[in-house]
Amino acid sequence: MAVTNAGCDLTYCRMRGIMSVLTAFIKERKMGLNDFIQKLVSSPHICQHAAVESFLKIDENQNEEMEAELGSNSLCFRPRSSLAEESQIKPCDFDYLKIIGKGSFGKVLLARHKETAQYYAVKVLQKKMIMKKKEHKHIMAERSVLMKNIKHPFLVGLHFSFQTTDKLYFVLDYVNGGELFYHLQRERVFLEPRARFYAAEIASALGYLHSLHIVYRDLKPENILLDSQGHIVLTDFGLCKEGLEADATTSTFCGTPEYLAPEVLQKQAYDRTVDWWCLGSVLYEMLYGLPPFYSRNTAEMYNNILHKALVLKPNVSNAGRELLEGLLHKDRTQRLGVKDDFMELKVHAFFSPINWDDLMARKIIPPFVPSVSGPTDLRHFDPEFTHLPVSASLCNGESFAVTSSMREAAGAFPGFSYGPGHDTFM
Ligand code: AMP
Repeated sequence: MAVTNAGCDLTYCRMRGIMSVLTAFIKERKMGLNDFIQKLVSSPHICQHAAVESFLKIDENQNEEMEAELGSNSLCFRPRSSLAEESQIKPCDFDYLKIIGKGSFGKVLLARHKETAQYYAVKVLQKKMIMKKKEHKHIMAERSVLMKNIKHPFLVGLHFSFQTTDKLYFVLDYVNGGELFYHLQRERVFLEPRARFYAAEIASALGYLHSLHIVYRDLKPENILLDSQGHIVLTDFGLCKEGLEADATTSTFCGTPEYLAPEVLQKQAYDRTVDWWCLGSVLYEMLYGLPPFYSRNTAEMYNNILHKALVLKPNVSNAGRELLEGLLHKDRTQRLGVKDDFMELKVHAFFSPINWDDLMARKIIPPFVPSVSGPTDLRHFDPEFTHLPVSASLCNGESFAVTSSMREAAGAFPGFSYGPGHDTFM
């Protein structure tokens, strides 16, 4: 049978039409299925059903795997009751005033507790995003790390954690002196005494985490905040690695490109010395204005990190350059801190002006005090965030008591108590 051109075009057009309808249909169904699974995962009641549990293969294997990876003392899987569970804290207990930051899974908001009028930074993470990016272990690690009775003058404190059907909440100390990066960008470089002060406070926080067998891993200026007095506060424990003993190593690829240590880039095993590399990178950037081995071309930067010798211009003191050489040693077995960890840094000549007892007692007067008139003064936060509207529907759910079955059904996010069922903000 002869087929005319016109007939052929028509068939082709019709075929294309049918294909596009089919593609859209499949896409929609896939999205629907995805949503459906996400809802199953986060719904306390449905998750308990045996059929659903086996369909989703809910978390038994995953939890075991996570427990093994996070270390046997992980709180994720032997959750002690969080403050939220005890007092049934819920999203509606707070007034949400401003958006002050954004991470990869959600936002950080300035909030005021309605009853106590206390200000907090509330980090709200989308479960969907976390599950999509398979970052669920990291988030549990973050909570676990924050809950682990961590108390240090230069580490952010967690007050409560809870969840709704689609979000996780971390209620943290509100720190409003701005990101170190924000101040560094404005001033390009810091003078040595100022860089020394920040490096010393950061080092003491890292040394403390190491003493608890926690590797921070993701040290970078965005995660280093200043409080209103000008002291350091490290946030974002999302990438912390728990359960690493002094000589233990791990090999998950994580971190910020500029500060990736050679062993991380090469996917080799790494250990707590990775944090001393990152501290070296931050100190270098504070003193020279750019990260070490920096290139706008990422491939070239990776190559530099792996192969290029460290160049230290002489506008930094000998002690400063010697410290940077020690921290930025490509071979982690030669790196400063490999033997005695923080102790090796404490006694380094660069830190000789620092009285470590005074430092820990926050008695050293910060070299720079961020000018803030009060908790609602957001001048050190990026207007890109603070100008974003905070949805009025933030608090529109009925609150209900947290039952033990709900706690069990936290499923993918065990240990977080449940707040109201639905919320629609963000
Ligand atoms: P994160 O998701 O932890 O990386 O946070 C994203 C941004 O939110 C940070 O870079 C800070 O600017 C801001 N932020 C995080 N935690 C706090 C906090 N406790 N107080 C004030 N701002 C914070």
